[in-house]
Amino acid sequence: MIVTDTHTHLYSEQFDSDRDQVVKRALDLNIKRFFIPAIDSSYTSSMLELEKSYPNNMFLMMGLHPTSVKDNYKDELLHVENMLASRKFYAIGEIGIDLFWDTSTLKIQQEAFKYQIRLAKKYKLPIVIHCREAFDEIFEVLEGENDDDLFGIFHCFTGTVEQANKAISFNMKLGIGGVVTFKNGGIDQFLNQIDLKHIVLETDSPYLAPKPFRGKRNESSYLTHIIEKIGLLYNRLPEQIADITTENSKAIFGV
Ligand SMILES: [Zn+2]
Repeated sequence: MIVTDTHTHLYSEQFDSDRDQVVKRALDLNIKRFFIPAIDSSYTSSMLELEKSYPNNMFLMMGLHPTSVKDNYKDELLHVENMLASRKFYAIGEIGIDLFWDTSTLKIQQEAFKYQIRLAKKYKLPIVIHCREAFDEIFEVLEGENDDDLFGIFHCFTGTVEQANKAISFNMKLGIGGVVTFKNGGIDQFLNQIDLKHIVLETDSPYLAPKPFRGKRNESSYLTHIIEKIGLLYNRLPEQIADITTENSKAIFGV
């Protein structure tokens, strides 16, 4: 059994004091594959550093996060493009639209999202979508970009069953994490109506820790709590959930 965390910000400052122990706790639980989403250029060197420490376990993405789409976004997109041209990445992410933090940047968020989807297609890479209070806006962009080369993950999926099926119709897997363990999270109410072949696991650590750690710093070893909950929802053994979702992650990332 090998478990895959498809979304963790392990390079975050919040792990600076004990990053190696955090990784070790996960490895000891067979959580061995970590997919690392980008935010903006200020984190690139720490991402590369992380990969250097664990070359067999860390798989880097490249992209500009919607909350980092600011006045300088064209320079940031150029950085993304230059990095993509310089070496291998496993996805374009995280990209998307976030209307929780800032609605005034919607126009340039849409533009940056579209631009990066086209980069993903150019490099035949999956996209990893960040969506916050922006389902309609995201689906509108996906509608316009929908073709055989569009695929990826709807990260931290927290929508309705209809929105889940719509995301799947655009060739997206659903990234399921701590929210599935929350009392009022919502997705636990319908998740088992979605075929497991559409699901991948993620922590989004250091954010969104699952029960019983809700509100604390999240880390990849807590995936065991997420797996356990998903196993209960689907009436499957934790090992089966781990195996299926790792296979799904391989299909997406090509590794
Ligand atoms: Zn994230």
